[in-house]
Amino acid sequence: MKYKRILLKLSGEALMGSRQYGIDPTRLAEYAEDVKAITDLGVEVAIVIGGGNIFRGVAGASNGMDRVQGDHMGMLATVINGLALQGALEDSGIPTRLQSAIHIDEVAEPFIMRKAVRHLEKGRVVIFGGGTGNPYFTTDSAAVLRAIEIKADVILKGTRVDGIYNDDPEKNKEAVKFDHISFDDVLKQGLKVMDTTAFTLSQENELPIIVFDMNKKGNLLKVVSGENIGTKVNL
Ligand code: UDP
Repeated sequence: MKYKRILLKLSGEALMGSRQYGIDPTRLAEYAEDVKAITDLGVEVAIVIGGGNIFRGVAGASNGMDRVQGDHMGMLATVINGLALQGALEDSGIPTRLQSAIHIDEVAEPFIMRKAVRHLEKGRVVIFGGGTGNPYFTTDSAAVLRAIEIKADVILKGTRVDGIYNDDPEKNKEAVKFDHISFDDVLKQGLKVMDTTAFTLSQENELPIIVFDMNKKGNLLKVVSGENIGTKVNL
């Protein structure tokens, strides 16, 4: 395997599958199978899960809600998703721990970096819920932050698109995919990979990001074994 310890970022929307809202158990089970394929090979897996399938603070704020309150709701939504993912992974026989950036002790362990690393070393998948624990951030920022803290080799951003293109591939049929692109070129060309805060944190810490299509079965294994799919962003 090319990568020994990975941080997988899944958006909340990824869990919806073909639904408009909430969580699709079939999709969750498919993700669990993909994760099992790599944990069986000894890869250490940490997952940061988003909450956009349930609630986003900005959406609340645009309807007149206080932004901070909305963001708290969004962070709690990521804990709900974390619990759902934990259930699916354990149904597939993968030992897991859910750690939350917001104290919610009856439901999840608090985030403690050293404990998270210990779980990974013991072969448990660690799911990080609650984002960074702060409003005005995103779960992409949480993904980069946690990846740096646990010294992951790479961030794998699982999306429904198979990489980074020079234009939106869903709107422009001529859009061209990059196999590899530097952090600088992403910024120069104004491409969207993650929000700026998350992206800059990754760049400053020289943590590579691979964007790939998580909805194709077996892709996660391919990426982790070093196959050239998706787009890799590094120095
Ligand atoms: N959120 C937050 N701080 C964080 C991470 C998330 O306030 O550190 C809130 C924010 O309101 C965000 C919501 O949680 O809109 C869900 O997270 P995100 O939008 O990143 O989820 P995704 O797009 O990955 O599903």
